Amino acid sequence: MSAIVPPAPCRAEIDLDAVEHNARVLVRHAAGARVMAVVKADAYGHGAVPVSLAALRGGATALGVTTIAEALELRSAGIDAEILAWLYQASDDVRAAVEAGIDLAIPSPAHLDTVLEAARRTGRRARVTPKLDTGLNRSGILLEDWPNILERLVAATAGGLVEVTGLMAHFAHADDPGNPVIDQQVARLHECVAQARARGLECPVNHHANSAATLTRPQDAFEMVRPGIALYGLDPVGNLGADLVPAMTFSADVLMVKRLAQGEGVSYGHTWHAPHDTTVALIAAGYADGVWRLLSGRLDVEIGGRRYPNVGRVCMDQFVVDLGSDAGTTVRAGDTAVLFGTGAYGGPTAAEWADELGTIHYEVVTAVRGRASRNHVLRGRRAADHSGTGIGEQRGSAR
Ligand SMILES: *Cc1c(COP(=O)(O)O)cnc(C)c1O
Repeated sequence: MSAIVPPAPCRAEIDLDAVEHNARVLVRHAAGARVMAVVKADAYGHGAVPVSLAALRGGATALGVTTIAEALELRSAGIDAEILAWLYQASDDVRAAVEAGIDLAIPSPAHLDTVLEAARRTGRRARVTPKLDTGLNRSGILLEDWPNILERLVAATAGGLVEVTGLMAHFAHADDPGNPVIDQQVARLHECVAQARARGLECPVNHHANSAATLTRPQDAFEMVRPGIALYGLDPVGNLGADLVPAMTFSADVLMVKRLAQGEGVSYGHTWHAPHDTTVALIAAGYADGVWRLLSGRLDVEIGGRRYPNVGRVCMDQFVVDLGSDAGTTVRAGDTAVLFGTGAYGGPTAAEWADELGTIHYEVVTAVRGRASRNHVLRGRRAADHSGTGIGEQRGSAR
């Protein structure tokens, strides 16, 4: 009996040099403003700790996450950069975050109560970033509540309970650079910052811009920008032509290659029949791994520099591609099929999947799951020294 477990049939390879490069590109576009790398949701599925380290190497000086748990994970990994968490319950106990020096967004009066309580009980000054609702109408302080919260922040600052790092807000239309709502939101944040400064709060580092705004509206960078998706090399608008390199390549093994006679149907329901004698290949990833069944018949893979179309339904664990009637195909079992990646060699991209699915590439890269392993590499080399999670880390075991 052998204890050897075969490697994962499909893989997300994360190029940390691409992340570092993209961070540099964003630093350049930020026009003097600081860059907070947004690494929420396990760095959009790319691995929060190794991606954070790569982004910091590329010139980011702060990290942004959603939950306090995400922030504490980064601190526990030894990352001492500024880390901001912006979504939690007002009823949460946030003492661990205050003790770990995590910056906390304040999106409502109740959240201010929570953080002040934690500061009193820990005896530590809490670093806070009031989050204004300048028009997204999602999370954030209503403008009508701002004057009252501002007075409370002034008092809490004087009492040594908090340090206000700056104000933040989030755009509703950043991916539509000419939209007038952007100007309105910017004006509102400027006004809130001016009011805070007039009351003696320095607010040194304010921020409103996500990736799209960072790349299209450098004049609205305030003192810091908060890009996420562009760090992963994906264009937030679709046509910016910024020098971004997609960091995630999703690939799967070719399991077998076989002949198929004209008229034969393929996969469940025989939704496709071979129009002529052909050769097909079986690919080792399915909807359980993040290959949407909705992409059936609408996705290509790249094998050895050529694209081949999926035929028949995508199944839970596998799908079939048509190699064509060229009997001399060089595709063999054991070859690697790229499902999406940098687009090199004409290969497919996450943006193509998003277009086919009627969604955004954010959802495509965060959906890779199931049996897909995740490996961090430095332009083709394994990144054991930087990943912090070892070589060939399997999803699931790493979280
Ligand atoms: C996700 C998020 C970002 C990053 O947005 P991208 O479009 O990925 O650049 C910035 N700020 C907040 C508050 C977010 O939730």
